[in-house]
Amino acid sequence: MSHGRKPPAMSLETWQRELRRQFGRAQRFALTNVGTEAVFSDFEVRNPQNASTYRVAIRGVQPGENYCSCPDFATNALGTCKHGEFVLGRLEWQRKTEAILQRDLCEGGDIQQRAARGPQQHVERGGDRWG
Ligand SMILES: [Zn+2]
Repeated sequence: MSHGRKPPAMSLETWQRELRRQFGRAQRFALTNVGTEAVFSDFEVRNPQNASTYRVAIRGVQPGENYCSCPDFATNALGTCKHGEFVLGRLEWQRKTEAILQRDLCEGGDIQQRAARGPQQHVERGGDRWG
């Protein structure tokens, strides 16, 4: 999706949110869970490139349910930002990883099934990591 031009079928708000979703999920921030829950918790997101750290509170997956202390979040009125999206992406990825691991654990006894499944599917599964 282009950064400079809004797709015609998309509202300005959705487009701006989508840009942050894509951008945030592609970042390599350092993530620290400083709350008590695994998912709906408080996080510190640190950008190693400029040493900035922001506090992100994850309370849901819908825009407006979460909070970030960065200037973009304070002014964009979208209810999301790249830091929040980064945390959500990381959490989704972990959940997927867990599901994949559990499934592999169940199928682990059947070596033939594993061989038949092959490495191709692993690549495909990895591919939706940022999606
Ligand atoms: Zn932010």
